[in-house]
Amino acid sequence: MIIPGAPAPDVRCSRTSCGLGPEWEIHWRNPKIHTADRVKVWLSCGDHRDYFVGYLEQRNFPVSAVAYGGEK
Ligand SMILES: [Zn+2]
Repeated sequence: MIIPGAPAPDVRCSRTSCGLGPEWEIHWRNPKIHTADRVKVWLSCGDHRDYFVGYLEQRNFPVSAVAYGGEK
């Protein structure tokens, strides 16, 4: 759970081996195993946003990217 205005100091991009801080939240779910109200969240740096979105779109998972922590 992410609380606006109180970012955890150790949050990082969810990409393995990427140590950058998050700029995006990738919201997605797998319709086969997740109910409609269940949303998974990955954190992504600016460089990996397209990687995550493309990965999930290839699997036909509902996906959306929103700015991490709201607008700055
Ligand atoms: Zn990254």
